[in-house]
Amino acid sequence: MNRLNRVLHAAVAALALSLATVPAVAADTIKLYQVSSGTLKLDKGYLTAMRDVGKIVEVPVAMYIIDHPRGLVVYDTGNNVAVSDGQCERHWGKMCASSYPTQKRNDVIDKQLEKFGYKTSDVKYLVLSHMHLDHAGNLEMFPNATVVVQKDEMKTAWWPEKYQRGVFVLADYDDARDFNYMELTGDFDLFGDGSVVVLDTKGHTQGHQSLMVKLKNTGTLLLAGDAVYTPENEAGVIPGITWNTYMSMESINRLKRLRDAHQGELWFSHGAEQYDQHKHDGYYD
Ligand SMILES: [Zn+2]
Repeated sequence: MNRLNRVLHAAVAALALSLATVPAVAADTIKLYQVSSGTLKLDKGYLTAMRDVGKIVEVPVAMYIIDHPRGLVVYDTGNNVAVSDGQCERHWGKMCASSYPTQKRNDVIDKQLEKFGYKTSDVKYLVLSHMHLDHAGNLEMFPNATVVVQKDEMKTAWWPEKYQRGVFVLADYDDARDFNYMELTGDFDLFGDGSVVVLDTKGHTQGHQSLMVKLKNTGTLLLAGDAVYTPENEAGVIPGITWNTYMSMESINRLKRLRDAHQGELWFSHGAEQYDQHKHDGYYD
């Protein structure tokens, strides 16, 4: 082996060694899956105040799985597993007649995680947009996660105003009070790198929060949760259910401003048409 060959040989060996130490997941690789906890059949007036009241619509119940190199995140957990396969009343009572869930057992968040190779125990952060029955339904499946929720939402869920009681189902979280909570009082950058940012979007409830996710190829997604149910709300129609209408409209404006500033997209929680256009058997990156 002449000198040049020896140098080349050493260089190739060094390159192979450095490649072997590159982590399997590059730091900027974040995967986002959008799935649905079945659908709800409900009066359109629940979504758009004084618009299409009395018209029954079928809408998805969006949930998200976000695979960040530093931990798995779930944003919203859908309807409780107990309301699967037509078994609604024993868990939701009167709510079944007004927001009939079509959820099948395989639609539930634990099965959705399994579908993509994850387990509920893999989840590091469980972010809840709020604690209504179609978003916090399966909180009790995640005893190992840190639950990221606004402090005001926790207080509301455990002691709702009388007029809010129907949509907060205590049985969804009565055994979860001793879980590990990150009780927020505003925005929070979950990994400190700007890629998954919790946004205070109160108004729908006292402690509603949305999620801003930055993906390398897809760009910035504003996952609205119930801050913006449908495109009509985005266009200025007051959402059908609000705790505080003024704050609700301010939060919609906030999300739209962020969407424009980051040249991103606003994803609705219960927007059937938009949901149908998205991919659900694979990830966005
Ligand atoms: Zn909802």
